[in-house]
Amino acid sequence: MEENIIIQDVEKERYASFSFIPWWDQEKIKKSRILVVGAGALGNEVLKNLALIGIGDIFIIDYDKIVNADLTRSVLYRQEDEGKDKASIASERVRQINPDVRVQYLHGDVVWDIGLGLFRRMDVIIGCVDNREARLSINQACWKVNKPWIDGGIDVLNGVVSVFIPGQGACYECTLTDLDYKILGAKYSCPLLRYSDLVSGKVPTTPTTAAIIAGLQVQETLKLIHKMDVPSGKGIIYNGFTYESYLVEYAEKKNCLSHERYQPIIEITQDSSITFRQLLDIANDYLGEGAHLELDRDLIWKLECKGCEYQKLLLRVLGKVTLEQGSCPECNQPCHLEMKHIITREDEEVLDITIAQTGLPDLYVITVRNGEEVCYLELSGDEAKIFHLCGCG
Ligand SMILES: [Zn+2]
Ligand SMILES: [Zn+2]
Repeated sequence: MEENIIIQDVEKERYASFSFIPWWDQEKIKKSRILVVGAGALGNEVLKNLALIGIGDIFIIDYDKIVNADLTRSVLYRQEDEGKDKASIASERVRQINPDVRVQYLHGDVVWDIGLGLFRRMDVIIGCVDNREARLSINQACWKVNKPWIDGGIDVLNGVVSVFIPGQGACYECTLTDLDYKILGAKYSCPLLRYSDLVSGKVPTTPTTAAIIAGLQVQETLKLIHKMDVPSGKGIIYNGFTYESYLVEYAEKKNCLSHERYQPIIEITQDSSITFRQLLDIANDYLGEGAHLELDRDLIWKLECKGCEYQKLLLRVLGKVTLEQGSCPECNQPCHLEMKHIITREDEEVLDITIAQTGLPDLYVITVRNGEEVCYLELSGDEAKIFHLCGCG
């Protein structure tokens, strides 16, 4: 019996060539939402690929500005883009490559500027970052909301791609060595100095390795979208000098701190203009009298310089305070920081300020606890704000 042959207009239809791949499902790809963290060398290549295959929704986050040195390995940037935000320009160029793609972006830092609610709304998160702090932050967020993420790393001619699916083998933190923790810990010697500020000079990267590693990251993303088997808790190591690549399985750590899950997450209609007092009222509704709030990061409550007898109530999230803001105006020395992450009705000072005022991100998920009972409230009212940042609808 003869099979029906579907004749397609392969020149007019954008995705026609993909339709010859038996397992390829353009509808699934179109319905996917991908978060790309970092729009540097790797991020550029990842975004280019995602645009070409017709991913439906892409969200880009990056805090950097374009410099001329980016032009040797960033296919999306042009000479005239110097000084502009990477996230904004990258999103513009993705839209030029493929107008079918909805792109949104945030000029900000993944560690401090996006709430778990954003991660929750994504299908896959692709990490294109160059430091451990950002990777750890992505990893913890993905585990909390049960989303797969794909980490990429490049170093001259070598690279690595690791897929981490919560509950399936090791996570990124499981792979960290004592040395990694030491480097991560360096930032805590002064909590107000960001790790990225401590690292001068970046890892040298080439456009060729970026293309190879980003290609693998997007290929694994495609497989995840199609629910194909993807090796989780494993890394593909690529050695560009010797042409060798191999898969390593990372050992899962039993007491790994990243394995915490947030369940159940309850969407509430309020946004981040809600005060802590109002949130405590809602917390009571869910978990009864005496429920308290817990933040997943430290709030700098008070600054103090003992020598100068200087004191200041700050109520700002750690990552949102610069060294200058955290220093004593009289002697210029860094102040002693009084930090808190649990908020109860006793904490009068903070009750009438809003979540946004403390520097917590939009779509933030706050932990509510009462004894053994726990639930997680997402400030879902921020959704419209977050998803219309670039005015593209
Ligand atoms: Zn782990
Ligand atoms: Zn002082």
